[in-house]
Amino acid sequence: MHEKYKMLIADDLDIDRDILREIFEDDFDILEATNGKECMDLIRQYGSEIRIVLLDIQMPVASGIDVLQARHTDPVFSSIPVVVITINDDTRSLMETFRLGATDYITKPFIEEIIRYRIDNVLSTHQIEEVVRERETFRIKAERDLMTGIYNKVTTEHLISNLLATNDLICAMLIIDIDDFKQVNDVHGHLIGDQVICTVADLLSRYFRKTDVIGRIGGDEFLVFMLNLPSKELARQKVEDFSNLFRYKPDLTAPANVTVSIGMAISQPCPSTYETLFRQADEALYNAKRNGKGQYTEYGIEKAPDMTSPEILVSLLLSSSRDVRSLLSKANEKTRLLTIFSPKEAQYFKKEFSGKIHLFYIDISTGSDNGDALLEQALDIDWLQDVPFIAICREGDMAQYAAAIERGAVDILPAPIDMTFAKRRILHLS
Ligand code: GH3
Ligand code: MG
Repeated sequence: MHEKYKMLIADDLDIDRDILREIFEDDFDILEATNGKECMDLIRQYGSEIRIVLLDIQMPVASGIDVLQARHTDPVFSSIPVVVITINDDTRSLMETFRLGATDYITKPFIEEIIRYRIDNVLSTHQIEEVVRERETFRIKAERDLMTGIYNKVTTEHLISNLLATNDLICAMLIIDIDDFKQVNDVHGHLIGDQVICTVADLLSRYFRKTDVIGRIGGDEFLVFMLNLPSKELARQKVEDFSNLFRYKPDLTAPANVTVSIGMAISQPCPSTYETLFRQADEALYNAKRNGKGQYTEYGIEKAPDMTSPEILVSLLLSSSRDVRSLLSKANEKTRLLTIFSPKEAQYFKKEFSGKIHLFYIDISTGSDNGDALLEQALDIDWLQDVPFIAICREGDMAQYAAAIERGAVDILPAPIDMTFAKRRILHLS
């Protein structure tokens, strides 16, 4: 015979428990508590075996309110419905119990018919909720990678194929592979290796947009699909910035100085399929590995210039505006552009680029003031002291122009930035 579900009745009055037990003992295995503490002890002991709790508000030692407060922090108890037992005129306490998550209430003196209906209703609603919850958990389990929580290989492929079939704007696929990951495992052990995989997955989820598809497609291999991009340049800038997170911010990828190689394929102008894009991105990834790892390579572009080569001019842009970052990286055709969001981030480039930056762009156009404070912080960075700077100011904002000139800007670029103008200026200054 099917074992009966448990019902916990918590009430300090013997007579009340007797009545409720009589009503429900044929259908439930009844547990009884005479105060709030006993009630919580029984929940700890029997957990999810308990199907429903009937809880008196006024009880010694710990009241019904105390029990409901404790329920909040207990995931097992939170999933058990609680029906509060109250006397007719105690509306204030009743409101408080609802605020604390009680599902329903029954009033004293008890009327058997009504109590039965109410308990039946609570249980059937709860059952439906449980089915929905279980389905949701099952769906998440089926489409996610268990270790990292991002999409698994099958789902990633499926989602991207569908998106490619219904979108004809610029899309980019990135395959990201951790460099020398076998060594991480060998030197630090598999547990740390797992942590590194989770850190990379977490960084990807935080760095790319919610609408992008992010999945783990192999042991140390990830895939990102960026959808509906306004320009190819933005894709390049995003990938470059992401790859730089690993090159210059080792603190983000503790414990080991992990780097990643990235292969990118862009879908436009020809519409593409998952297979084609994947093959292209994979080939680009292979080139990134062959070129020395820790970098990104785009399919169809032979070799990314080596950022550290002394012949390549490197400039630094401080800007919190996506538009400015994207336009300026487009205008910097012949030089490399490193970007930072705040003056504090400059430290990440210090070691490798000290003495190698030829121009510093400081974008004050998005601030609400004349940019004084930002200029001051930016010009205070010790290793950039001798680097000439260009201020990006709000077009026509004389206060910003004046602040920039007073502090020694070699030039001013008005924002919104005009591409032709910016290109000529940059060429001239290089
Ligand atoms: P490369 O720079 O060429 O990518 O070298 P690599 O050492 O990273 O080589 P590869 O990508 O081929 O190796 C991936 C390694 O990842 C192999 C496997 O031992 C390890 N690995 C795969 N799945 C997991 C995992 O879930 N956890 C851990 N800790 N290691 C894994
Ligand atoms: Mg690898």
